[in-house]
Amino acid sequence: TEFISANDLASLMNVSVNEVIKVCLGLGMFVSINQRLDAEAITIITDEFGYDVEFLSAEEEESIIEEDDEADLVDRAPIVTIMGHVDHGKTSLLDYIRNSRVASGEAGGITQHIGAYDVMTETGKRITFLDTPGHEAFTAMRARGAKVTDVVIIVVAADDDVMPQTKEALNHAQAAGSPIVIAINKIDKPAANPDRIREQLAAMNVLVEEWGGKYQCQEISAKSGQGIPDLLEKVLLEAEILELKANPNRNAVGTVIEASLDKGRGYVTTVLVQTGTLKVGDIVLAGSHYGRVKAMTDHRGKKMKAAIPSTPVQVLGLDGAPQAGDKLQVMETEREARELASNRTQLQREQSMRTKKHITLDEIGRRL
Ligand code: GDP
Ligand code: MG
Repeated sequence: TEFISANDLASLMNVSVNEVIKVCLGLGMFVSINQRLDAEAITIITDEFGYDVEFLSAEEEESIIEEDDEADLVDRAPIVTIMGHVDHGKTSLLDYIRNSRVASGEAGGITQHIGAYDVMTETGKRITFLDTPGHEAFTAMRARGAKVTDVVIIVVAADDDVMPQTKEALNHAQAAGSPIVIAINKIDKPAANPDRIREQLAAMNVLVEEWGGKYQCQEISAKSGQGIPDLLEKVLLEAEILELKANPNRNAVGTVIEASLDKGRGYVTTVLVQTGTLKVGDIVLAGSHYGRVKAMTDHRGKKMKAAIPSTPVQVLGLDGAPQAGDKLQVMETEREARELASNRTQLQREQSMRTKKHITLDEIGRRL
């Protein structure tokens, strides 16, 4: 089995992929950027960089979260990441969706950057967007074992070409097994040539639906908004096939999107609730930090008492800033949360003191 690409392995170790390739060459192994590596290669390479690798089984990963009964599961909104080459319009698309009528019925309020937000489409369906700068955060979170994205939108500018980062984004999404919707952007520009983009995609085996392929594709303008409601409908179609479900009636489990220290409010942690309902007053553990949820706000700064699955919220009350990708979970008692947090802190300290650095490849990593 192949576990992870050379590129992703490099980012796990915080080195450039070129260094990895060079080291491999030195060992007589020819490795390309997106080449997936098997366990033997990973062990050899990581050893060269001073890491030892732990391969976690699916059971170990899943045991963290208790299984839900089929009967308790209800539909949840899809979580979407937008990826693509620089300047092809990722930020513009996110901004348009956040600020336009697409996000209907949510007038007023100051939009804050909290790394994720959810909108209601014109057809009354909710979609949650991860507002992460390109695929870096996507890779970083996935590398940490957090698979939060359900559907990936890949933006390509119609007045440009399929670019290296477009290909990389496609590779990442395909490797993660996420359904992809292609958004051909900047269709308002006189130089726009969407067929050229379709052709270039076809040349790399990404055949769009209108040409008989399996990839849904939508021409859009992030400037005028043209095509964006259709794009969102296509995203929802992909989501429907996935039959995304979660149990809202249990202790919440989520993933930390970002966290920071706010002078007035203390530690502010953006969490994407994935299952269960997170409530004010809950005791939570996130990475090596814990606390009682003092208050929660949405991306417009509106106070919330409870957050259902697929809802991004800003949480106040943790005793520190967990890392992006850390799992957050509700604990029964404060004592349990405190003990686990302090155990983890201790473990981290010990690990950083050891000569060998340590990385963990979980089951998600295996599927990369
Ligand atoms: P990102 O790097 O992928 O986040 O790209 P941006 O959203 O920052 O967009 C790059 C540039 O393209 C900006 O100057 C945008 O105003 C412009 N842009 C983005 N989308 C469109 C579009 O649909 N039409 C036109 N005409 N310009 C666009
Ligand atoms: Mg941008």
